Amino acid sequence: AEEALRQAQKMEAVGQLTGGIAHDFNNLLTIIIGNIDTVLRRFDTGTDPRARRALESALKGAERAASLTQRLLAFSRRQPLAPKTIDVARLLAGMSDLLTRSISESIAIQIVTDPHLWPVEADPHQLENAILNLAVNARDAMPDGGSLTISARNVELGAAATADGVQPGSYVAISVADCGIGMSSDTVAKVFDPFFTTKEVGKGTGLGLSMVYGFAKQSGGHIEIESTEGEGTTVRLLLGRKSEDAGAFLEGENTPAEASG
Ligand code: ADP
Repeated sequence: AEEALRQAQKMEAVGQLTGGIAHDFNNLLTIIIGNIDTVLRRFDTGTDPRARRALESALKGAERAASLTQRLLAFSRRQPLAPKTIDVARLLAGMSDLLTRSISESIAIQIVTDPHLWPVEADPHQLENAILNLAVNARDAMPDGGSLTISARNVELGAAATADGVQPGSYVAISVADCGIGMSSDTVAKVFDPFFTTKEVGKGTGLGLSMVYGFAKQSGGHIEIESTEGEGTTVRLLLGRKSEDAGAFLEGENTPAEASG
């Protein structure tokens, strides 16, 4: 619990800091990109090709910086949670096109869900976002292709099976497993820290897993990582089962009373 609090405070501070910096940076980058673009257009022909290449490379760098800044802005503007009752099997099925488009062709994607998954309560957009983040990390870990398996099943955790802060109880476990490069135990220890990344500048923000971590905690869930260097990684997101009496209307926006009124 202390660890969770520390992480939440870090996230809060980082959110405020990045929001401010990213906003200013975004404005400055717009000026830089606009001006390089103007120069490239005005001196269209007959210019020194080396100067042109230099400008093009500056533009590319600035555009990469802008995309990074956009992601930082999106991070600091995290939407508040809007929890709903979710059928995880349906949510995953609905993501299949998006996943195919985001993952390279050399990676086989498998989605495996238990029949009769328990309902969970979470923000569906943020859950999709979390799964997409995990899938993109899996993709990045398999530059030469491989397979990505996303599975969901019901799990009952007894007191013996639970560790740091996980309550015993009923959960739906969503696993994202890859057969990629894996991580050292040093890396695993740092992955939830905001800005921790091993990816090259402009590719990684180091915010993906800290966002997923924040989402899991805010949803009353948990996240676990199992990774072996050279073999692969499995990230498991545990979301608490929604109790039956709390809502019989799965995915329903309206109660019968509202619907008839
Ligand atoms: P980013 O993807 O922007 O680097 P993340 O917070 O999502 O930010 O991930 C942090 C780091 O954790 C990555 O840079 C990578 O080193 C490691 N990582 C995350 N997921 C995986 C994975 N599936 N396989 C190997 N390493 C991973």
